[in-house]
Amino acid sequence: MNFDLSDEQQLIKSTAREFTDKEVVPVAGPNSANHHFDLELVQKIADQGYLGAIVPREYGGAGLDYITYALICEEIGRGCSGMRTVVSVQTSLVCSTILKWGTEEQKQKYLPLLCSGEWLGCFGLTEPGAGSGASDQKTRAVQQDDGSWRINGAKMWISLANHAKLALIFAQTEPELKHKGLACFIVETDQPGFQPTPIDGKMGLWASDTAEIALDDVIAAPDSMLGQVGDGFKVAMSALDSGRYSVAAGCVGLCQAALDESIRYAQERTQFDRPIAGFQLVQAMIADMVVRTEAARMLVYRAGAVKDAGRPSTLETSIAKYNASEAAVWCANTAIQVHGGAGYSSDHPVERFFRDARVTTIYEGTSQIQQLIIGRAVTGIDALKPMVLERAPA
Ligand SMILES: Cc1cc2nc3c(=O)[nH]c(=O)nc-3n(C[C@H](O)[C@H](O)[C@H](O)COP(=O)(O)OP(=O)(O)OC[C@H]3O[C@@H](n4cnc5c(N)ncnc54)[C@H](O)[C@@H]3O)c2cc1C
Repeated sequence: MNFDLSDEQQLIKSTAREFTDKEVVPVAGPNSANHHFDLELVQKIADQGYLGAIVPREYGGAGLDYITYALICEEIGRGCSGMRTVVSVQTSLVCSTILKWGTEEQKQKYLPLLCSGEWLGCFGLTEPGAGSGASDQKTRAVQQDDGSWRINGAKMWISLANHAKLALIFAQTEPELKHKGLACFIVETDQPGFQPTPIDGKMGLWASDTAEIALDDVIAAPDSMLGQVGDGFKVAMSALDSGRYSVAAGCVGLCQAALDESIRYAQERTQFDRPIAGFQLVQAMIADMVVRTEAARMLVYRAGAVKDAGRPSTLETSIAKYNASEAAVWCANTAIQVHGGAGYSSDHPVERFFRDARVTTIYEGTSQIQQLIIGRAVTGIDALKPMVLERAPA
């Protein structure tokens, strides 16, 4: 087992680190405070090649491996979770899904636009009544005589939807078929029936864009489906396999940011005539942050290694995402403790880290859903499927 990064991976990590320190960190606080979705910064991130990191070069991507992609997500996530969310949605949920399920024509048409940042994409799975139980889609797609699809319904909590030019929309084609009727459509949003409305009042992730979408007679072209009717759930799960991985990597960055701020503050702040870093109980908090950060990083790299080997990685990805997101919440919370009263104020970034970390145990599958995926793998019993209990004969 080799724990060393290759020379190329180290170079990309240090480039992403420098980029984050120069371009992301200085604006992360103000963008969050102003609830500003910074499209100029998104374009700078795209110009670095980070929106198409795992997309092959022939489609406009950077053609990088999954471990290198994690290094990029970690660095951007260290600076701003709102911007790391952009990378996750665009690269993992949208690009990698088109890459895996799209026709050659769909890939050539859309991937270069997305990798370059010319277009933003969004991923429309969640509905007001379908969150963890994502297969219970109420959005309906009906095929027209000309082969196109007419889509009606509503989506909830969709990142980037106010700015996206392309949306992956999941819909039911035949309710009687249940999950076998689900399909995923590439929808171009420049049409009157696609109506996003910003969601205000979020606890955190203020520098990211989140919307609910009304779909009112939205038209998807005849050749806009990813896969076939009935593939919708599989398409969603494969997207989340990549998306959860990038969230986990971003959470490692959040852990690292919380740790860095805590070390800095503990060395500077004095109480009882010594830096608080000199107190054993403060060092214990910092040591526990180090351990959780390193453990989260290793589990992300392991999931990345499995992906790079081309093997199924659902279990390793869920383990990495569950662990890293819970670690990010814990580290950010502990960083506030290390800062005392100062940590409870927006004068220090750790309160933003905590608010931003909090969503990571919820989106792209809650911690409970990750636990059920892990539990299913080790027990062989799928707790998400209705269980039919056989009655013993009388
Ligand atoms: C800021 C933000 C951005 C988002 N971006 C996107 C996006 O771009 N695209 C998209 O499609 N979605 C997005 N989401 C939606 C997100 O993926 C969902 O919120 C998440 O899947 C949970 O669904 P829910 O909110 O409906 O919660 P629910 O599913 O109602 O869950 C509520 C609680 O019940 C628990 N629960 C539910 N079912 C079970 C079960 N079977 N066993 C045990 N516990 C269970 C959950 O773990 C949770 O604790 C975003 C959400 C947020 C907050």
